[in-house]
Amino acid sequence: VQLDQHAFLIDCGEGTQFQIRQFQLKTHKLQHIFISHLHGDHYFGLFGLLGSMSLQGRDLPLHLYAPPGLDEVLASTFRATQIAPDFPIYFHPLTSEKEQLILDHPALTVTAFPLSHRVPCFGFRFDEKPRLRKLLADLLPEDFPFELRKQLRNGQDVEWEGRAYPFAQFTAPPPPPRSYAYCTDTVYLPQTAQFAKGVDLLYHEATFMEANADKAPLTGHSTAKQAAQVALEAGAKSLILGHFSVRYPDLAPLLQEAQSIFPATFLAEEGKNFEIAVT
Ligand SMILES: [Zn+2]
Ligand SMILES: [Zn+2]
Repeated sequence: VQLDQHAFLIDCGEGTQFQIRQFQLKTHKLQHIFISHLHGDHYFGLFGLLGSMSLQGRDLPLHLYAPPGLDEVLASTFRATQIAPDFPIYFHPLTSEKEQLILDHPALTVTAFPLSHRVPCFGFRFDEKPRLRKLLADLLPEDFPFELRKQLRNGQDVEWEGRAYPFAQFTAPPPPPRSYAYCTDTVYLPQTAQFAKGVDLLYHEATFMEANADKAPLTGHSTAKQAAQVALEAGAKSLILGHFSVRYPDLAPLLQEAQSIFPATFLAEEGKNFEIAVT
């Protein structure tokens, strides 16, 4: 997830660092990594990524959010290899059975919420913080001071050279804050829609199709139809499907299954970007 100059990583499967390099993302900007659960396909890439960060001379701290146990796995790996990263790693265990604010960042907040899988598993919701109001610069004198422009954008009335400048007249409301929710791996849960209420973009796993719906609860996964159901119930604007079973070499039927319920559905494809436009 990228917001302005800030980058956040959710899950870190095998080969993540190679994809980060291939798509020319910058790891030094990465200060927060969120791991949904401790199945290998969601965190085995962490060892390589942390090792490379250390080799690159990173000194910025890194915050890791994950279910308890990852801290022990990392500690024993560092102990066995007798190599530990030189930069500080802060581990934030996810344990709450309710939704919980886990990061209050200047640009956004991140909330974790419980999913239901074969091991403890969490979804994450990213909410952008409100931006400053839009300045109607055409209405202002050209030499209007920068500091006062900032105050107007903050919603303060100002005075300059004997004239009042009410913020309501010289600024427009900021664009609505954007939001994103990430839900994998999980069985269909009605409450997921509540945690993802009104998001602009929802990522939901779709390991199976309805034809294999009997396998979904046994393995702790969802079908494409169920993912679409969550998007619909949440009132999401669009949906990305991912985490497909290898039994489907052609993903078009999965997409169609979801689109029959929730038309604004897309497939998560390697290297694809989804942008939430500022409106
Ligand atoms: Zn899993
Ligand atoms: Zn998985």
